[in-house]
Order: sequence, then C-alpha cells, then structure tokens
Amino acid sequence: MALFSKKDKYIRINPNRSVREKPQAKPEVPDELFSQCPGCKHTIYQKDLGSERICPHCSYTFRISTQERLALTIDMGTFKELFTGIESKDPLHFPDYQKKLAAMREKTGLDEAVVTGTALIKGQTVALGIMDSNFIMASMGTVVGEKITRLFEYATVEKLPVVLFTASGGARMQEGIMSLMQMAKISAAVKRHSNAGLFYLTILTDPTTGGVTASFAMEGDIILAEPQSLVGFAGRRVIENTVRESLPEDFQKAEFLLEHGFVDAIVKRRDLSDMIASLVRLHGGSPR
Ligand SMILES: [Zn+2]
Repeated sequence: MALFSKKDKYIRINPNRSVREKPQAKPEVPDELFSQCPGCKHTIYQKDLGSERICPHCSYTFRISTQERLALTIDMGTFKELFTGIESKDPLHFPDYQKKLAAMREKTGLDEAVVTGTALIKGQTVALGIMDSNFIMASMGTVVGEKITRLFEYATVEKLPVVLFTASGGARMQEGIMSLMQMAKISAAVKRHSNAGLFYLTILTDPTTGGVTASFAMEGDIILAEPQSLVGFAGRRVIENTVRESLPEDFQKAEFLLEHGFVDAIVKRRDLSDMIASLVRLHGGSPR
C-alpha cells in the first residue's frame, strides 16, 4: 500500500509571509501588534522582538516559522527546496483530517510540517530540514517521515552533511501506527548516512517531544538546543501521574538536558549559523 500520493506541483515558501504565534493576548488586542511572552508574561510589541524574536525582558526565545528560520540561518537566496508535493493518503480516513491539512497549508504556506532542501550556511553546503510547529504542532506523519528519509538518502548520495532543526508534538495521531513507523524508517536512513562517514547535526527547538525525540532528534553526531526549549518524550503530567512524584521546575528544559548529558551545547539564536558552519567545517565540510 502506498502511504502517500505524489502530485506534480511545485511550491511554495513565500518569503514575504510571516507566520505569527497564536495570539495569546486577549481578543481585543490585535495579535499582529502584540505577543505575550510565555517566559515573563510581559506584553511585548512585535517589533521589539526583532527578527530573531527574542524577548527583550527575559531573553525568551519565541517559536519562529520556517520562513523566519531560513532568513536567520542561511546565506540569502541559497535555499533549494526538495521533495515537495508529497501528500498524506489519510490511511485511517480520520475524520476531517484532509480538511485540517488543507487549512494548515493555507495558514502556513507550507505543504507539510517539515521543509527539506539544500542551502549554504556561511558558505557551507548542507542538506537542511526545518520542522515547523505552526503545522499541526509539527507532528510526524507519513509525509514528514518520507521527506526526512529522502533528505538523508539524498545527502548520502551527494556526500552532504545534514542539518536538522527539530520541533514536534510527537507522532501524528491522525495517521496512527503509520506515524510510529516513521521513527524506524528515518533512523535507518540516518544510520546509512552515518555509515558513509557523513556528519549529522541536530538543533532541538521548542518544543521537541514524543517520537521525534525518541528517534532522529537524538541521533545527531552533535546535538545543539535553543535556550529554554522544551525537549522530552512523554509530557510532564503523564510522568508525574505515573511515578507519583512532582518533577523539578526545569525538567525537560534544554538547560536540564545539558546538565544531564543529553545535549552538547545550548546556542543562542543569533550565534547558531556561525556555530553550524564551524561544526560542518570541523567535520570535513561539504564537497562543493
Ligand atoms: Zn519575556
């Protein structure tokens, strides 16, 4: 059974489009003007967040869209998108799933929860994947699995390092067990890339959870994280109810993971592209 259909179409990152945080302020406050900082609860003018979208009061690192991530990370105009036009075949015929996908495409300008391609980062050619929490909380279904797998296979053939920005609420429940299969499928492609002696760098962003954490997010040769990102497998309440203990305040924050050896470094957003380029160069760079 084919899990997805391929349609002949090409799109579609619109660089002029900026996806905003879901409005968290009261409805009468126009969401295009203000955001409430989840870190310090200050209400902040959007423009005060700057292009990096960092809270000026507490340095909270806001979630950003794929378009914003590209603008901040890569050498301008170098992104070549790959593996577009793959759509879920809705294996469970989950009620309203197709409608939801269509609405998400419309809202985000993306065709799925991950964008894949190649780009230059400070002169280094990389195979690049960016997961976007604005698209059904970047949940991992068959299309996300297929695109990331193809990215690794392409990078293996082209002898490119893979740089992957992870974000996810976990497996996509609308695709059931098919979603969980993606963990093994991607991991196999990661292993083949690794066996070819190629470098894989993950950058964990807020939030990276569930099956994504339990597979390719934690398989990087080097694992970086953005400050204060939520990174975990099961949610805090599930664990607390299971073990019947309350957990530390910073449990599942990037800083907690660094302290406990799960993350190699926490890197501020403004320093990320320099850090990525240095690490790629240190690991042999890219052939082109
Ligand atoms: Zn703040």
